[in-house]
Amino acid sequence: MLKEQRHLPEYMTPIYRLALDQFEAAADLLALDPNLRKRLMAPKRALVVNVPVRMDDGQVALFCGYRVHHDNTLGPSKGGVRYHPEVNLGEVSALAMWMTWKCALMGLPFGGAKGGVNCDPTQLSRNELQRLTRRYTAEMVQWIGPDTDIPAPDVGTNEQTMAWMMDTYSQIKGYAVPGVVTGKPIVLGGSLGRIEATGRGVVFCIQEALKHQGMSLSGLRVAIQGFGNVGTHAARLLCEQGCRIIAVSDVRSGVYRASGLDITALLRHVSEAKFVEGFKGGDAMTNRDLLELPCDILIPAALSGQITAENASKISCRLLAEAANGPTTLDADHILRERGIFVIPDVLANAGGVTVSYFEWVQDLQRFFWKEKEINQKLQEIMSDAFASVLAVALAKKVDMRMAALLLAIRRIADAQLARGLFP
Ligand code: NAD
Repeated sequence: MLKEQRHLPEYMTPIYRLALDQFEAAADLLALDPNLRKRLMAPKRALVVNVPVRMDDGQVALFCGYRVHHDNTLGPSKGGVRYHPEVNLGEVSALAMWMTWKCALMGLPFGGAKGGVNCDPTQLSRNELQRLTRRYTAEMVQWIGPDTDIPAPDVGTNEQTMAWMMDTYSQIKGYAVPGVVTGKPIVLGGSLGRIEATGRGVVFCIQEALKHQGMSLSGLRVAIQGFGNVGTHAARLLCEQGCRIIAVSDVRSGVYRASGLDITALLRHVSEAKFVEGFKGGDAMTNRDLLELPCDILIPAALSGQITAENASKISCRLLAEAANGPTTLDADHILRERGIFVIPDVLANAGGVTVSYFEWVQDLQRFFWKEKEINQKLQEIMSDAFASVLAVALAKKVDMRMAALLLAIRRIADAQLARGLFP
C-alpha cells in the first residue's frame, strides 16, 4: 500500500502556506495532474548551515543560513539572498517557490531558489558582514554555480555582498567565475541596468496597466512602502514620468507631502542618514498609515504579509503594484478583488530584476557585454509581452491577474516536467 509523508515539514510556516494555497488554487483551475501537483508542492532541496563569524570584539557569533531550491526543471535555479532578522526556512522556501513561477512566467531558462541568513545587517560592521558573507558562501559552495544555482541580491544584501560571494566562490575554484552570482558590480561582470531593473520593471508594468485602463502616469499620486533598492528606483523613475510621490517609508518610519516629495532631496538625505527619518521635506507618517493613504498607485516594496484581512478594506488606491514578494495575504486578495482594485502580482511586477539578472548571466557566460539602451529595451519588451499574456488569460478566464500569472507559469513547468518524465 502507498505510504506518503504525513507529518508537517519544517518549512510549513504561514508564509509557505500562503505560497502553497496560491499554487493549489491555480492547480485546481488547471486540473493539474495530481502526480505533477505533488512534485511542485514541496521544495526540491533545502540546505541549512551554521555560519560562525568572528565579530569585531573577538567573540564568535553563530548565524543560521539557508538556501532552498524549489524546482530546476527549466534550468539552473535562480533567486536572491536575504539578510534579515526574520529569515527562516519557511520564508526562504516560499520565496523560492515564487521564484519558480516568476522565471517560468517570464520565459527564462531558470528554476526557482532563494537564500538568506538570519541576522540584522544594520547591526553588523562592514568587516563582520564580509566575514559572514564569505563563510555563508563557502558553506554553500557545492550547491551554487553558473550551471546549478545563481544567487542575487534581495533585502539586506547588495552589489558588495555579491562581489564577496563571487570572490569567495572564485577563490575556492581557483579561477574567476563571474556567472556564479548576478547583481555584481559592473567591474566584476555585472550588467548595466541591473541595479535599477526591478524598479524599472515595476514602472513598465504600471504603464501597461494604466494603458489597459486608458490612463497615463502624469500627475498620479503614488505611495511607496520600503525605500531600498526597489523602492528608491521605482520612486525616481515614476517621478521622471510626472507622478507625485506623496509618501514613502522604511523600516523605521515614513514621510508624507500631499503636493509630492522632492525625491532627489530625499535620496540625498537617505544616502547620508541611511533612513527616511529626519527628512525635513514632509510630515512624519507611520508605515501603517501609508498603506491606507488615499492615492492612485500603492507600491509595497518591503516585506511580505503587509496587506492583510485587517487593512485590505481600508486600502484606498486604484492600482496595487506588488514590488515586494508576497505582500498580500490570500484573504486580503479576495477583499481587494471585490473592491475592484487592480493588482499587478509580485511574480509579474517585480520580475524586472530576475530578467536583467538573466541578461547578466548570459553576458558573463559569453564574456560579451551589452549597452544599457539594449538592456532596457529588451527588458521593456519582455515585461510588456508578459503583462499582455497575463492580461489576456485574466480576461479570457475571468480571473484576477495573480491567478492568470500562476496559470501560465505552472502550465509551463508542468509541460516541461511531463516532457522530461520522472527519474528514475
Ligand atoms: P532593500 O534591503 O534594498 O530595501 C528594503 C526596504 O524595506 C528598506 O527601505 C527597509 O528599511 C524597508 N523595510 C524593511 N523592513 C520593513 C518593515 N517591516 N516595514 C517597512 N519597511 C521595511 O531590499 P530590496 O532589494 O529593495 O527589496 C524589497 C522587496 O522587493 C523585497 O520584498 C524583495 O524580495 C523584493 N524584490 C527585490 C528584488 C531586487 O532586485 N532587489 C527583485 C525582486 C523582488
